[in-house]
Amino acid sequence: MSEQHTTALVTGANKGIGYEIALGLGALGWSVGVGARHDGRREEAVERLRAAGVDAFGVPLDVTDDASTTAAARLIEERAGRLDVLVNNAGITGGMPQEPTRVDPDIIRTVVETNVLGVIRVTNALLPLLRRSASPRIVNMSSSVGSLTRQSGTDGELTTGPVAAAYSPSKTFLNAVTVQYTRELAGTNILINLACPGYVATDLNGFQGVRTPEQGAAIAVKLATLPDDGPTGKFFEDAGEVPW
Ligand code: NAP
Repeated sequence: MSEQHTTALVTGANKGIGYEIALGLGALGWSVGVGARHDGRREEAVERLRAAGVDAFGVPLDVTDDASTTAAARLIEERAGRLDVLVNNAGITGGMPQEPTRVDPDIIRTVVETNVLGVIRVTNALLPLLRRSASPRIVNMSSSVGSLTRQSGTDGELTTGPVAAAYSPSKTFLNAVTVQYTRELAGTNILINLACPGYVATDLNGFQGVRTPEQGAAIAVKLATLPDDGPTGKFFEDAGEVPW
């Protein structure tokens, strides 16, 4: 096992916010696994990160695939012997529009498979390696559209995002599942939190977002580097806690 580096895995790190999270963690001197399903896109991202001075390595990973996830855990075990930080960033919208009265149920299944079951699948495959870390951290990339308070406008904020029966509820589901992880992992040294990056210009929204991927990555980097007495089971954006 390498004692020299903190080792992190970022899913969906070949582009967008995930790439910037990998860059941010790499800037700390950490060894960063670039989890990505497409060989060419993954290797291109690893090369760019290395050119920026990051100790990056490629991790073939499709979060919807059990065998791929198991192989990713094996790769990290062979390389580092443990995992210190897991950032579950990979996500999809399923495409818009998604009005609940018209949505194809298959779109909901596909989005939940990636945004919720993918997080569970990857987390559970990596948990044995995270348990070997002195300060394990898990960051799940959510969204303010997963906040029922914000979706219903009850905290005085403007309702965010389009009406979406797959994407927004998938993030609400992810929030709820993360709370259950927190309950089960209470009493361990694992801190698990949810991050909202804000509205970021990426492929996910046709680059309509108003924040840069680097700005969107900042909250995830912060939660990945929490001190041992840091919070767990919370939902954060840059400005502080997001209401459930
Ligand atoms: P993005 O540029 O589209 O990047 C999404 C990443 O997830 C890509 O690397 C993509 O890989 C990967 N991915 C998707 N399905 C995957 C799978 N089955 N296995 C492995 N990787 C997979 O989007 P982004 O905006 O950076 O989004 C990152 C996260 O932030 C998502 O969870 C998203 O819901 C969340 N978020 C984004 C915003 C925003 O405004 N952009 C706001 C709130 C939350 P491929 O290149 O292979 O498709």
